[in-house]
Amino acid sequence: MPTTCELCDRPAGTDYLCRRCAADLTERLEQLPGLYAALGDMLAPAQSADGGGRSATATEAPLPVRVDVVNARGEFVLLEGWARALAADWQVSPVRRRVRDDLGDRVRAASAALGAAVPWIAAQWPAAGDCAREVRDLYDGARSVTGAADLPARMGRCPQLVGGQPCGAELLLPAGVQVLRCAWCGATYPPGIWAALRVAQRALSPSVSGGGPAACLSRA
Ligand SMILES: [Zn+2]
Ligand SMILES: [Zn+2]
Repeated sequence: MPTTCELCDRPAGTDYLCRRCAADLTERLEQLPGLYAALGDMLAPAQSADGGGRSATATEAPLPVRVDVVNARGEFVLLEGWARALAADWQVSPVRRRVRDDLGDRVRAASAALGAAVPWIAAQWPAAGDCAREVRDLYDGARSVTGAADLPARMGRCPQLVGGQPCGAELLLPAGVQVLRCAWCGATYPPGIWAALRVAQRALSPSVSGGGPAACLSRA
């Protein structure tokens, strides 16, 4: 019996997650270890401009710590919970990794274990919707703490035809990246054709506005 995606309510065939949300889950799991590390960098004490002549001593006052960063990092333990639940439910036993007792390593291991299982999660795991939702919230929360400066630029919808239909996925240009690439269909748009891209987007906009094929992404 056809089902709707547990994350975005779009048709999902017989799966728990639609293909877009499964792809988003993969993408977020790939980025979470880097986000965790970025949050760690934010905890490092800032170099004070006038501190060059002084050496740190035990008598100095403790540096203020950003509580929001500490809390955002602490949230990452939920990945381990999901990785453990996956290992318990998935009849194929995951590769066991020896990891140091360091949350960064554990985040990497848990993200990798979950990421490798996304096709099974999306198709077979009744917990898929809850897992994908918590991963999305963790990802969004971490990104909001790391700040909007690193957020990719929104570049409109992908007009690439895929199977006769415009792809419609939201195009995001990460900071510092030159060539725009659709994360969904893989189409690339170097800066030289952005004017043509906008023309193509205007031409297709009526067919993808309001709950178009990329509704998953736009709601994410
Ligand atoms: Zn979905
Ligand atoms: Zn595309």
